[in-house]
Amino acid sequence: MTELILALDFGGTKHTAGLIGRGETEFRARRQVISPANADGDYDLRTMLGLGHELLGGAQPAAVGVSFGGPVDYDTGTVKLSHHIPGWENRPLRQIITAEFGAPTNVDNDANVAAVGEHRFGAGRGCASLLYITVSTGVGGGWILNNRSWRGRDSMAGEFGHIMVDPLGPLCVCGSHGCVERLASGPYIGRRAREWLAVQPERGAILRRLVDDDLNAVDGKVVAEAAAQGDELAWESLAVSARALGQAIGSVANLINPERFVLGGGVTKSGERYWDLLRATARAAAMPEVSYEVVPAGLGDYAPLWGAVAIADEPPA
Ligand SMILES: [Zn+2]
Repeated sequence: MTELILALDFGGTKHTAGLIGRGETEFRARRQVISPANADGDYDLRTMLGLGHELLGGAQPAAVGVSFGGPVDYDTGTVKLSHHIPGWENRPLRQIITAEFGAPTNVDNDANVAAVGEHRFGAGRGCASLLYITVSTGVGGGWILNNRSWRGRDSMAGEFGHIMVDPLGPLCVCGSHGCVERLASGPYIGRRAREWLAVQPERGAILRRLVDDDLNAVDGKVVAEAAAQGDELAWESLAVSARALGQAIGSVANLINPERFVLGGGVTKSGERYWDLLRATARAAAMPEVSYEVVPAGLGDYAPLWGAVAIADEPPA
């Protein structure tokens, strides 16, 4: 009988569980629940354990892989905290899951796990080295080097979002200035456009129309929509994002020389013009001898769940 792998993805706003047979390429079953706004660590955990048991229907998994949306100490499988949900501080998640399902378990943060997912099942197949970058509410990254995850001394490798690309730029949540995340993420694409709309009343007609003149409704998504329809103010805010990403990608290419950069997250769905600028900026920032590809992610929102399948089988730390 095929052994079962249970994959769990604790996201910031939704939780997903999947059950798959070892070696299979499609989930046998998958469940997703949206978290209420007042959820805490206890609630999330109860919900996820429930989903897991529901999928298993009394069967015993051979291994469990877990993706967590926040910093994780990989060696001990302990969640350090969640930036979005209270009550996750220092939870020994691997221990809890192992005890609950009676199976060996690996836990890692979502960007690392998504990198593993793209490497094994998505846009990074056949690539020995890649940096996976997700650009949505925040900007995160995960490394595959020599076909293995590279987590670094503190499990903090791949913090691509906090590379400084403009020392004179705006203050970032991390305390630094002009970080990639502060310039490129969805919420800041929206915020920048709102600030410009407020002081440039003659510009942004298409963007204003899309939100019925309600500037508070301007977010990254509607900016991308307006840019696609030809709004130049909207495009300029997107362009800041594309340039910041490209600048950092070029520098990272110089430093590590990976084969591929795999980009996922909502912001990367901002159209060809966005990708062209991003690629051109990266090319200009990297040395001419440094070659690499920048490609869209292949697994979409399910990269962490597929990665969880892959890490379930990693040897214990
Ligand atoms: Zn930062």
